[in-house]
Amino acid sequence: MFLGQKRILVTGGAGFLGSHLCTHLLNEGHEVLCVDNFFTGTRGNIASLIGNERFELLRHDITFPLFVEVDEIYNLACPASPIHYQLDPVQTTKTSVLGAINTLGLAKRLKIPIMQASTSEVYGDPILHPQPESYWGNVNPVGPRSCYDEGKRCAETLFFDYHRQHKLKIKVARIFNTYGPFMRPDDGRVVSNFICQALLGREITVFGDGSQTRSFCFVTDLIDGFVRLMNSPVHLTGPINLGNPAEFSVGELAKKVITMTGSKSRIVTRPLPQDDPKQRQPDITLARQQLGWEPVVSLEQGLILTIAYFENLLKERGTKALA
Ligand code: NAD
Ligand code: UDP
Ligand code: UDP
Repeated sequence: MFLGQKRILVTGGAGFLGSHLCTHLLNEGHEVLCVDNFFTGTRGNIASLIGNERFELLRHDITFPLFVEVDEIYNLACPASPIHYQLDPVQTTKTSVLGAINTLGLAKRLKIPIMQASTSEVYGDPILHPQPESYWGNVNPVGPRSCYDEGKRCAETLFFDYHRQHKLKIKVARIFNTYGPFMRPDDGRVVSNFICQALLGREITVFGDGSQTRSFCFVTDLIDGFVRLMNSPVHLTGPINLGNPAEFSVGELAKKVITMTGSKSRIVTRPLPQDDPKQRQPDITLARQQLGWEPVVSLEQGLILTIAYFENLLKERGTKALA
């Protein structure tokens, strides 16, 4: 036990971002309680943490109340990939909304700080570019992405109402597309899809004409942003954008992945999913000013590490691991 050691709850701790966050907090010397229902998270993601005496795993669905004793909460539970959050859209909204109510209720009872993993999806298909936090967004409330977008928007509302009404110490991070090792090969998001397709020599599936843009942040940069936000002065509630402002078209990403993997895969086009945002780039002025934070890993550097991760998975577990 060291002075300043905390017992920290990470919901969604077995997911892609959650597992990196749990590892980071353990490395800082804290105790971590990882809560997950394994909807998209895997035991494999946290396998290396089991056995650490400061790590505890609880299988639990955060749409149900949770009574535990902790000093801080990072609320990450929610499927993030469109194909996964659209599998059971009602559960997706419940996870965001009821999950927020339960974790906020927990934070209120314990009088502890709580951070919400919100998303650039609150901006929908943005008309303003790049997106600053002051932009209210352009969101379809009744489309296939709405379960996620509106669920996350309602969660932000709840965070700010608990803050105003109950004086809760809240932190709201709006995360832009983040990638890296420990994404599932079948996650369905663009970076993991393209890398796995390239490594297997399969067709690279570009949706639409590939001109839509995203700004990709490497996971270690994002986790650094999370922790800075949580440890920032109480008045810094956010919402605050966390992402890498370097913007690329999906077509450019496909070509980059092919070159970097030395793959013979060819690019094919598939229909653009409904309501797929045309452009996305974070304005991170606030994060720079308030947290002294900005990403340091370039897309190229991040892709090298992510490709190496999936290559290794392929070597260890064979083609099936990436199928
Ligand atoms: P992920 O799908 O890998 O992780 C989500 C985790 O939450 C999984 O472990 C899943 O099993 C768990 N979960 C889902 N529903 C749950 C429930 N009802 N109860 C308990 N656990 C539940 O996704 P990720 O990329 O790690 O995203 C983590 C968080 O960050 C999510 O809230 C997501 O909306 C947000 N986010 C991520 C990105 C990104 O680019 N990675 C971008 C914006 C926002
Ligand atoms: N809650 C929880 N753990 C706690 C405290 C509360 O899961 O330690 C849940 C509680 O069951 C409730 C929700 O959080 O459904 C909101 O709690 P709050 O106290 O804000 O509301 P109330 O209980 O007054 O409806
Ligand atoms: N995309 C694609 N091919 C794929 C997966 C995704 O072209 O195999 C596109 C998708 O249509 C979107 C972008 O890549 O324009 C990012 O998609 P992702 O699902 O990673 O995240 P989003 O930002 O849409 O939530």
